[in-house]
Amino acid sequence: MGLVTVVVDANHRTWWSRESERRDPKPDVGRDLDHISWYFSAQISNCRLSSIAFMPCSLVGDQHCALSCAGQAALNGVAVSAGDAPSPKIEPAGPGLRVVVWEATQACDMKCVQCRVNSRPHRHPLELSTAEAFHLIDQVAKMKVSLFALTGGDPLKRADLLPIVQYAVRNGLQSSLTASTTPLLQRQTIFDLKQSGLSSLAIGLDGSTPQLHDSFRGAQGSYKRTLEAIGWCQEANLPLQINTTLTRRNFADLDNLIDLLIEKKIAFWNTFFLVPTARVQIGDLLTAEEHEAAFAKLYEASERVNFDIKTTEGQHYARFVAQQEAKQSSGRSKKTAASPLFDDKGLVFVSHTGEVYPSGFLPLPAGNILWEPLAEIYQYSPVFRTLRDSSQLKGKCGRCEYKAVCGGSRARAYAMTNDPLAEEPRCAYTPA
Ligand code: SF4
Repeated sequence: MGLVTVVVDANHRTWWSRESERRDPKPDVGRDLDHISWYFSAQISNCRLSSIAFMPCSLVGDQHCALSCAGQAALNGVAVSAGDAPSPKIEPAGPGLRVVVWEATQACDMKCVQCRVNSRPHRHPLELSTAEAFHLIDQVAKMKVSLFALTGGDPLKRADLLPIVQYAVRNGLQSSLTASTTPLLQRQTIFDLKQSGLSSLAIGLDGSTPQLHDSFRGAQGSYKRTLEAIGWCQEANLPLQINTTLTRRNFADLDNLIDLLIEKKIAFWNTFFLVPTARVQIGDLLTAEEHEAAFAKLYEASERVNFDIKTTEGQHYARFVAQQEAKQSSGRSKKTAASPLFDDKGLVFVSHTGEVYPSGFLPLPAGNILWEPLAEIYQYSPVFRTLRDSSQLKGKCGRCEYKAVCGGSRARAYAMTNDPLAEEPRCAYTPA
């Protein structure tokens, strides 16, 4: 073993210290790094290695581990050199990846009833740092996806938001941002985001009246602020997306809301079909028949409005559209069909701490971008491979002729049955 050189990946430090911090509420990062150094040098001494080479770390400011390890190794009589990092194995995006959603923070000053996360006013200490956010963007840029979407929480809670947006844009990423309509969202903020190269801004609107919207958002005055922000986006010429969560509370308001969105000249409308997570009450979920009625309204609207309609966790809308188009077979342009862009095929969700999930609503971790390339997680992790394989679907989704285009919401199936491959619990269709 005397002539063997060991290459140590200094990125390991990030994983190790973060894992320790998770276990220990008062982390001592220096102690953990010393522990790693001791561990490596002990292994090296035991193996009677002659030399050790340290890979340069790709994360800014994470050199401590390499230097500390090197010091320990030298004390043990091992020759130390700076090795070249093997070029990371970044692959093309893989089958159909179009969107990377990054939860920039879970901090938010609002307490919306349908919030996907248990938002809190303060940022989590293990949120990705600015350097780690740049590291994520570097990876996403290499994967050549159509959209890099920043979400929260409220990304405006991050002081480094503008530099992050600018970095993403400089790296060629079409970037969108979902913001909360709190006092942090000012007219100047919208102009600054536009100036930074942001492609579109998304804000929530859950009802056509102040009473209805404010009851969703848990804050009086939220409706007024939302309409103000819509006006500022028009002034700044920044394309606007409206996000609406459809529940039994606002289902009857859908026609009025569509009329309001037409009046406000928005660019995109993203309809979220509820998944029971965090604060969501199961009684708020639309029934299977109400999902069908909502799809009919979206489809009818898609033929007359000037904005694109997308769905989130409404995968069976793709089946509904296919059925309608089969009935009509001609005379309908492609543009009018809504796109299920934010549903879980072709999307990865990166959490505030770098964990990767198939969707923000499906808490099955597939890896972490801090120690594995995102492209590899998307292509090779068992979680993504399993969910891409529609032959593994169970129940009526498993025998459905639409499973390749639909497949149902895996997030809702998991939330309601604990099995991500179970049949969609809110689909009215019975396969032939
Ligand atoms: S049964 Fe499943 S795959 Fe078929 S349309 Fe319904 S949700 Fe989609």
